[in-house]
Amino acid sequence: MTGMQGTRRQDPSNAATNGITLMGDGNVGQMKTVADDRKPGEWGRAWNVDLLTHLTVICILLTTPFIALYLHMACPEFDCSVTAPLARFLDGSLTFRAFLERAPPLNGLAFKMAGSWILLQLFFYYIPDVFGYILPGYAGGIRYGAVTPAGHELKYNVNGLQSWTITNVLWILNGVYFKWFSPAIIVDNWGQLFWVANILGYGVSVFVMIKAHLFPTHAHDRKFSSSFLYDFLMGIELNPRLGSMFDFKLFVNSRIGMASWSVINISYAWKQYENYGYVTNSMILVNVLHGFYVIDFFWNEAWYLKTIDIQHDHFGFYLCWGIFVWLPWTYTLQGFYLVYHPTQLPKPVFIGILVLGIASYCIFRAVNHQKDLFRRTNGNCKIWGKKPEFIECDYYSGDGKKRRSKLLLSGWWGVTRHMNYTGDLFQSLAFCLATGFDHILPYFYITFISGLLLNRCYRDEQSCKLKYGENWDKYCARVPYRLIPGIY
Ligand code: NDP
Repeated sequence: MTGMQGTRRQDPSNAATNGITLMGDGNVGQMKTVADDRKPGEWGRAWNVDLLTHLTVICILLTTPFIALYLHMACPEFDCSVTAPLARFLDGSLTFRAFLERAPPLNGLAFKMAGSWILLQLFFYYIPDVFGYILPGYAGGIRYGAVTPAGHELKYNVNGLQSWTITNVLWILNGVYFKWFSPAIIVDNWGQLFWVANILGYGVSVFVMIKAHLFPTHAHDRKFSSSFLYDFLMGIELNPRLGSMFDFKLFVNSRIGMASWSVINISYAWKQYENYGYVTNSMILVNVLHGFYVIDFFWNEAWYLKTIDIQHDHFGFYLCWGIFVWLPWTYTLQGFYLVYHPTQLPKPVFIGILVLGIASYCIFRAVNHQKDLFRRTNGNCKIWGKKPEFIECDYYSGDGKKRRSKLLLSGWWGVTRHMNYTGDLFQSLAFCLATGFDHILPYFYITFISGLLLNRCYRDEQSCKLKYGENWDKYCARVPYRLIPGIY
């Protein structure tokens, strides 16, 4: 297991475009994590794990499973009210124990369902990609990720679009033709599945923590802080693998999380039909808008290999439990809410939200595409019909070598510094607006994504400032706003 998987490069010159570096000299167990002590080249994730960070970590580990359960229980038990259980906790009429007792118990069916899903996705994960040959413009098949700080270029079988398509076609065929079981089976066992997902989320997080210590995939791509809890939350290994091709991060993020999203939404729509004999236009809108997001992800899975999730974030509880539990239970909350509160939107409202969703999707996609094109062609491309303007930057990689990179000033990257996040935020708003205006519960998503992306802006800018120094300041001076021109 400790073998070098993927190709280890002697000269990690590609790191120039990949944005990561190895902290320290590979003696990572004794690595210092105090940001102020960083030497040139130490611009990756590094943390001063102080008391406040410790307390934050403990708070995240203890509260997030409860928040996910609380949001889930709000609909079946408290008529989708976010405040009712809290008010009852505060006035003493509901104890924590009584609340837990109202949650559905763990059952064998939920284990079988989760097990079947994982086995099916594992099977699809290993099938060679065919879509890459038949779909013009789609980048599937064997692809390589960014060069890691320790110089590994990992190989991936990019076939997510294929597995997603087969999964969804089977799911729909089962509902309308084979009728083996109702697609509403997910929502019917949603509470029971919550416990199984937690067992998996915690179990895999603990496993990768142990693996990182005992049999790491790439020992020099690990990061340790002085805090056990911080390492558990943020992960130690960058790309833990089993064998040469099973990549935990891609499998969990893509095939457990993103692939389940649309299947869960279809289950909600099915349940609404079973309950009321019709599917509301709001439910269709939620399915369509989420569907765009999920299909975009799978169409661009090769691009996803170069994003912060895969390139920078290590694999720990944050990503692992987050994908097993947080994503399915909180990102799909809008459809779940509509099962309990079927909402028919007036036609103009429906059209307005659809336009907002599509327009913000187009911005999100165009921004990500512009950076990808610019970096892939090393600036030899056209952005909005013109040769792009950019700032040429020097920076130091982990081996102490001076390297070069470019910051794009044209197109969307000249409008604000994170216009892709802006597109994402407005899409998220459209997802929530699609549920109508009666309850705040389905608006949890936009609240959470706003926090997540604002935090990302901060984390990313800190990292870019450390990496590019005064050239980052020059970029900020040329493009002064982060998300919305003239406002923020
Ligand atoms: P980005 O794709 O914005 O990547 C940030 C990196 O891009 C920086 O670290 C820097 O890396 C490089 N960069 C910054 N400015 C420039 C510039 N002007 N020119 C060229 N390169 C630049 O961020 P993410 O990976 O976080 O996000 C990818 C997408 O995924 C986004 O659309 C985001 O909205 C979405 N997302 C959605 C989430 C959700 O839960 N809904 C969660 C996370 C992401 P370098 O070191 O290479 O210079």
